[in-house]
Amino acid sequence: MRQNDVIGAERRTSFCRLCASSCGVLLDIEDGRITRVLGDAHHPISGGYTCPKGRRGGDLVHGHDRLTSSMRRTATGTHEQISATQAVTEIAERLQAIVDRHGSEAVALYMGTQQNFSALTPVMARSWFRGTGSHKLFSTMTIDQSAKWVVAERMGSYLGGRQRFEDADVWLLAGTNPIVSANGGDGDGAVVHNPSVALRSAQARGLQLIVVDPRRTETAALADVHLSPRPGTDAVLFAGLLHVVLTENLHDLDFCRRYTADLSALTDAVSAVTPTVVQRICGVPADQVDHAARLFATARRGMATSGTGLCMGPHSNLAEHLVAALNVVCGRYLREGEQADDRSVLTRRVPARAEVDPPARAYEHGYQSRVGGVRAIRGELPSGILADEILEPGPDRVRALIVSGGNPAAALPDRKKTLRALRSLDLLVCVDPRMSSTARLADYVIAPTTMYERADHTAIMEPFFPQPFAQFTPALVSPPPGVVDDWRFFLDLATACGQPVKFAGRILDPAAPLTSEQLLAMTAERGRVDFADVVASPHGYAAGPSGAVVGAATAEAMRNRLVLMPDDVRAELHEALVESAAADDFPMRLTVRRIREAVNSTGTRVPGLVPGGTNPVAVHPDDLAALGIGDGQEVTVRSASGRLCAKARADRTLARGTASMTHCFDSTDIAGAHGVNVNALTSNAAGVQTINAMPTLTAVPVAIEPAKETR
Ligand code: SF4
Repeated sequence: MRQNDVIGAERRTSFCRLCASSCGVLLDIEDGRITRVLGDAHHPISGGYTCPKGRRGGDLVHGHDRLTSSMRRTATGTHEQISATQAVTEIAERLQAIVDRHGSEAVALYMGTQQNFSALTPVMARSWFRGTGSHKLFSTMTIDQSAKWVVAERMGSYLGGRQRFEDADVWLLAGTNPIVSANGGDGDGAVVHNPSVALRSAQARGLQLIVVDPRRTETAALADVHLSPRPGTDAVLFAGLLHVVLTENLHDLDFCRRYTADLSALTDAVSAVTPTVVQRICGVPADQVDHAARLFATARRGMATSGTGLCMGPHSNLAEHLVAALNVVCGRYLREGEQADDRSVLTRRVPARAEVDPPARAYEHGYQSRVGGVRAIRGELPSGILADEILEPGPDRVRALIVSGGNPAAALPDRKKTLRALRSLDLLVCVDPRMSSTARLADYVIAPTTMYERADHTAIMEPFFPQPFAQFTPALVSPPPGVVDDWRFFLDLATACGQPVKFAGRILDPAAPLTSEQLLAMTAERGRVDFADVVASPHGYAAGPSGAVVGAATAEAMRNRLVLMPDDVRAELHEALVESAAADDFPMRLTVRRIREAVNSTGTRVPGLVPGGTNPVAVHPDDLAALGIGDGQEVTVRSASGRLCAKARADRTLARGTASMTHCFDSTDIAGAHGVNVNALTSNAAGVQTINAMPTLTAVPVAIEPAKETR
């Protein structure tokens, strides 16, 4: 049977919008329902690959728990159906009353990961939010990746572009497991699509793969070199790799001379972090550190990229800084005259220049929260302080929160405190197709269309594609009559609040609403291809190289330099080197891991998708034996901040002394009646990074005991 043959059903092309991969899919549609989701073998990027959650896309659209109407909380705490129009009217009135009484800073927006996979929603949500005049903007970016922003603010950025995976002969993946997550860290097209095939083909052409991960992950199992540091010691490991590169003069001296300000300061700072020191602190054999550093630095081309594993652990700002420093000293960037890494198709092209955007430390000057004096970074306040922004008394206290495509009840640290904060709001609105643990607490739940019910394009995902590529999909199945596009909710809310909505450079006329297709076309106006050509390409549009090259530095930028070792980074390195023995009370380290069946909390409630339907704690079998715990036995996991109950699962991929659970599992209540959420064990008060208030969400010290002994 050929790919497009289908009996009794219509087969249509589209792309999955559950993660940044945007895999091409074929949908079998029968009587208006999706009966099957297959990988699109003719898709030039994903080549037929899909993951388990993508193949269950039909359940996400038609599942029994999918909301078919917006909901309003009643006086007794239950939810009743309400039309989206009436909900918008009531929400606008309640927002106005809150602003009249407490001012605009009482209103906050939390943008979740899922909203980013819809081209129109982030733009419209931000447009509504700008009109409120509030600074209380939060997102999931600041709960798992804001260290990357901190690096750019403290080190600066090279604007010529980075070396690419496609022609690399070495690649280092740190704290990321693309075989499972389809994300090789950073939005640079590194191992995001069809990950197993992409990695194996690259190795077949000679790429050397280095993986840094405490666990022997599915990706680490493929690696030529697997460095397995003790959880939470990545920063020291990278300092050690830099030590070897710099003391053996393996660095790119020309690049460093031209683009860095303080190579000697970096060399001095890592001088004491010998491979022997790394072995003692991280548990990685010294000869492996030597070998990995030489392999990385002597290769012709390649990068080190990092995922959320580094950004969620202790010393995350430092660890990310040192990963970036390794790329800089090895000169892993495109030079003047080289072909630019230009992936823009529907988006506006940003010219690449062989120059540096110097460190701005903008977070020292942005809006300052009254919580811990933390300042906004890139226009956002860190999500680590959201609960305190709601709970701490004061004139700027957040009293109304709109959640778009996210689930803060599952994602934020200190679950008890987060739930208390969400319950204490005067107004909580959640845009979600399901009654997530956040939606259950909401005053209004806006039921949006799901991915195959809305038109969309891939502009927002262009940095993730390995080549210039774009795809458009129309809506392929009709949504239930009671739902709205989530972008439409924000447009209607802005209109009801009397705010003009600026979109793609112009003010929209609320009296003449545009369709999704018209808005999508507007967002593509500054792209380099005709949007109609993309619309006419059912398997997507491979645009080919733009021909752009990396330009020369402008005269004003000639003196700009990257700063490799500012004083605050040096102080953080000193702190990380002070070896902390595991406290007897909490002898193990709990790490978090991704699973193929879920993207954060999305997918954790789809029946039969997550094996066992719950979130076990994985432990090395020898540790289980030493603890007197059997495989499958119920255990209590304790940390300094809380405890949870879960089933133990023997897992030989873990190092001794390490446990692992999936983060963001969406449990229905604090006791974890459905699944178990690891944020019962985390805190936003201890182990928090300066600058971005990032809590420690992985490498958490814990104790694990048979449940019967603690009950
Ligand atoms: S990797 Fe899975 S979830 Fe992500 S786009 Fe592909 S099929 Fe969808």
